[in-house]
Amino acid sequence: MDCPVCKNAMITLELEEVEIDYCTECNGIWLDAGELELLLGEPEKAKHLLNSFKIDSKCAEKPRKCPICDKKMQKTIVGSSKPTLLIDKCRRGDGLWFDRGELHDIINRAELDKDNKIQRLLTDMFSYDLNK
Ligand SMILES: [Zn+2]
Ligand SMILES: [Zn+2]
Repeated sequence: MDCPVCKNAMITLELEEVEIDYCTECNGIWLDAGELELLLGEPEKAKHLLNSFKIDSKCAEKPRKCPICDKKMQKTIVGSSKPTLLIDKCRRGDGLWFDRGELHDIINRAELDKDNKIQRLLTDMFSYDLNK
């Protein structure tokens, strides 16, 4: 699968038995449909988070193409907290694209338990370039 941003081939990483596609160039992450829920691990919170998604039809950012179906993805606002977190979502529902740090951000916003494994793993994985 190629990165929708820089077109490099992404590598597959395994996080707690969930396979994620990761771009080593831009540090973006692709999650297939359903994988975010698996990563969050807490069904109620995952549902709450997914229900907070809002399509931003007026977004000026250039749309990206889904690495699976090659159609333009929709800019999607997560929740209502500031600063606005905007991710890319395939219209067909193939999955979600997270720019660098956004997956970590969304998991923080899901208000998971403090010792949530995925949150810790992501912090370990990306701590070198987060919080810049
Ligand atoms: Zn990339
Ligand atoms: Zn797609």
